[in-house]
Parts: sequence; structure tokens; C-alpha cells
Amino acid sequence: MAEIDLHLHTTRSDGTLTPAELVQMCAERGLRIISITDHDSTEGLSEAFEAASSFPQLTIIPGIELSTDIPGNEIHVLGYFVDYENPDFQVVLERFREGRENRGRKMVEKLNELGVSISWARVQEISDGGSIGRPHIAQAMVEDGYVQYPKDAFDQYLGRNGVAYVDRLKLTPAEAVQILIDNGALPVMAHPTYSASKSGMDEVDSLDETIEELKEAGLVGMEVYYKDYTPEQTERLAALADKLGLIPCGGTDYHASGNPGEPEPGSVGPPMETIEALKSLKKARV
Ligand code: AMP
Ligand code: FE
Ligand code: FE
Ligand code: ZN
Repeated sequence: MAEIDLHLHTTRSDGTLTPAELVQMCAERGLRIISITDHDSTEGLSEAFEAASSFPQLTIIPGIELSTDIPGNEIHVLGYFVDYENPDFQVVLERFREGRENRGRKMVEKLNELGVSISWARVQEISDGGSIGRPHIAQAMVEDGYVQYPKDAFDQYLGRNGVAYVDRLKLTPAEAVQILIDNGALPVMAHPTYSASKSGMDEVDSLDETIEELKEAGLVGMEVYYKDYTPEQTERLAALADKLGLIPCGGTDYHASGNPGEPEPGSVGPPMETIEALKSLKKARV
């Protein structure tokens, strides 16, 4: 069991546990340091901090996850020690969430045209005021019996090559990194995979190159210990992080999604040195 999990979602985005429920679960599982990293939202953080006051052994690092696109793929950027009280930052997040809402509505329209008769009202209800995402649409499809598990909705309909896919508001990874730097947060690349390829390039070179470019833009770390990575993947990414001077981060990306076999908080995570490196970097920037 890991004592650190730096990638977790709540009902304020596409997770299904409330911030308080997630904090309690993490404390009961013996975690010592967690970061809550909802998509385009920091709205769960105050509830999480309040819940954590009952568990003195548990520390929360305020976090966020921003979604960005490159040709043919997406890149997610995590931000740690985010200043969630910054009003300019909140204006940006609200704009992203509005974009998510418009895109979600369009995807539901597309599904309806394809004979998948889920309702937008139900999707909104499932999202319960949180940052709307494809998992909410997938959940509505599970409820109405169109698919067995949320992940099946992605395979057939909602994934990038799915028939109901709609582009999101355009943001490049470098722009996301800059937004986080302006905020004072530490930008970290989420779940890098060798499929983050630029078209026509060798996959491995392409990942290295993308990360190197983002490092120039201010990236300080990348996930190495992640959800279901194999030891080989982790080893390869750890070597890349080391080569580029990036802090090796990670966590389970837990959503309580209802997909079978989802790794639970603390099943994988970075060592304490990661926290020390993040903290000293943050301190040096204040
Ligand atoms: P969105 O934020 O609307 O772009 O949706 C992306 C989210 O969908 C991710 O953060 C995951 O929570 C979830 N997701 C992405 N791919 C899959 C998949 N293949 N199966 C299940 N959930 C997925
Ligand atoms: Fe998600
Ligand atoms: Fe992600
Ligand atoms: Zn995530």
C-alpha cells in the first residue's frame, strides 16, 4: 500500500464520492498525503479540508486537473498547491466548465440521433452541479441499459474515435501549464502514455518530445506511478522523468466509477521524496 495518492476525483467533477466521503475513505485506508484533482474545478477542496480536520494523520494538497488537446490525442495537466482562492483563476475554470456543458449537450444530441435516447436533463442531474464530463453521459447510458459499464460507452460512443465524440473547448498543454504557473501551482503531466503521439512520429520519441516542450513551458513533474501501469511502464517513465529532471508523481486517478477492477486510493503512489521535492519547489517560488 502506498501512503501517498496525488490523483483523485470527487462529485465536484466526474467522481462519484463526495469530497468528505473520499477523504474518509483515504484516511481509513491509511493514506497520509492525498491531492484532490477534480477536472476544471476546485469546488471540492474546502469540503475536503473540513473533512480532513477529523483525521489529523491525513494531509491534503490542493490540486486540479486541466484537459488539453494535441492533434489526435489529449493531454491532462495536474496542478499542485493550487491557489484556489485566486479570482482570475476561478473565472478561467468557470469558462472551461461552461465549455464542458455545451460539449456535453452536443454529445447527448449526437447520441439521440444515433438512437441512444438518454436525456440531457438526467446527465445534468447525475453531474449534480459538478464539472460535467463524459463519465456522466456514460452513467446515463448505463442506467438506461445501453451499455453494461461506463467504460463500454467510451469504447463505442464517447472515446476520441467514438461516433458521438465532440471536440472540447481548445486549449493546448502549454497554455494549461501557463495558467497553472500564473496561479502559482506546480504543473505536472498526468498519465503520460506512449499513445500521446503526434501524428506520423515514432511513439516513444513523440512522448519524449512533447514532455520536453512542456518542460520548457514550465512543467515540473510527470506521473510515473499510475493506476494500472505495469512495472515496465513505470520503469520507463521513471527513467524519462529522471533524464528530464522532472519530479516523478502519481496516484490512482480514482473516480469510484463503477467500472470493474478500478484500483482504489493508495493502491499505487509516489514515495515521500516526491512530496519533499514538490514542497521545496513550491517554497522556493513563494
Ligand atoms: P471528459 O472530461 O469529458 O473529456 O471525459 C474524460 C474522463 O472520462 C476522464 O477523466 C475519465 O474519468 C473518463 N474516461 C476516459 N476514458 C475512459 C474510458 N475508456 N473508460 C472509462 N472512463 C474513461
Ligand atoms: Fe475523469
Ligand atoms: Fe486525466
Ligand atoms: Zn484524473
